[in-house]
Amino acid sequence: MRAAVALALAISMSATGATVWAQNAQTPAPAAADAKCANPNALGVSRVVQIDTTGGPGFGFEHFKAYDFLRDHEVVLTFDDGPWPGNTPRVLKALADQCTKALFFPIGKHAGWHPEILKEVAAAGHTIGSHTWSHKDLSRLTPQEATDEIEKGIAAVSIALGNKPVGSFFRFPALRNPPEMVKYLGERNIGIFSTDFDSFDFKLRKPEQVVKSVEAKLQKHGKGIILMHDFQHATSEAIPEILKYLKDNGFKVVQVTGKTPTEPKKEYVEAVLKEIGGGLDEARPMSSVIKTIEGN
Ligand SMILES: [Zn+2]
Repeated sequence: MRAAVALALAISMSATGATVWAQNAQTPAPAAADAKCANPNALGVSRVVQIDTTGGPGFGFEHFKAYDFLRDHEVVLTFDDGPWPGNTPRVLKALADQCTKALFFPIGKHAGWHPEILKEVAAAGHTIGSHTWSHKDLSRLTPQEATDEIEKGIAAVSIALGNKPVGSFFRFPALRNPPEMVKYLGERNIGIFSTDFDSFDFKLRKPEQVVKSVEAKLQKHGKGIILMHDFQHATSEAIPEILKYLKDNGFKVVQVTGKTPTEPKKEYVEAVLKEIGGGLDEARPMSSVIKTIEGN
C-alpha cells in the first residue's frame, strides 16, 4: 500500500475572528498503520489529517463552508448510529480488507449496549467521535436538555471504550444544529462534522441502492465527506463494493484524527453509569443478563 502521510492541519482563530489554516510539514504516519496491511492492492489511507478542534470548527459543506480541506478525489468515510451487532463488525471487516480508516459517530445508548463492538472499532484504529445519547433532534429540545444529550453521549462512548477520552468530533442527529449547541460545542472545543453529501442509506433497503447512491454523489461532487450508517444492514453489505468503486476510480481516503481528545464530564459519567446499571430502557444487553455457565 502507498505510504500514509500525516498532514497536520492546525486551525487557529485570528484576532478578527477569521479562521486561519496552517499546514505543517508532512510527517510519516505511525508505522503500525502500514505494517498490518496484507492486501497489496488495498485502497489504504492516502493521508492522515490532524484537526485542532479548538473553538469547535465545523466541517461538511451542507452546513459549514469555512474549511474545504479535501483535494479533488479525496474522501472521508463517516459512519453513524452504531455500534450494532452484525452490521458494525461487517463494516469493520470491509474497511480492514482494504486497510482503510473511517470516522465513527456512535449513539451513546448503543455504545452502552454493545461496548465490546465499539472497542473493536477503536482497536482497528478508526477515529471515534460522538452522536448524542439517544439520537434526539436537538433543535426540538431546551438548551439544557440538548446539552445533556451531547454530554451523556460523550460519557457513554468514553465508558464503552474503557473510560478513555473520546475523539473531539460530534455530529448532530439528522444534521439539525441549533445555534446554541454549535456555540456550546465551540466552548467545549469539539469539532462538528456535517457532511458534503448524505448517502441517504437509511432510506434504502438494498445494498445495490446504497452503492448507486454513493457512486452518483461521488461522480457529481468529485470528493467529499460521505455520510453512511454502520447501523444499517444494507450499508454494511454495500461497503465492500463502495470501497472497490473508490479504488477503481482513483478516489483516495483521508483519515481524520483529532489533536486533543475530549474528556467526558464527571457528573455525566455518573449519570450514564446509573442508567446503564439500572437497565437501558426496558432491557439490558442479553450478554449481561444471560450467561452460559456450563456446556456450550
Ligand atoms: Zn444518526
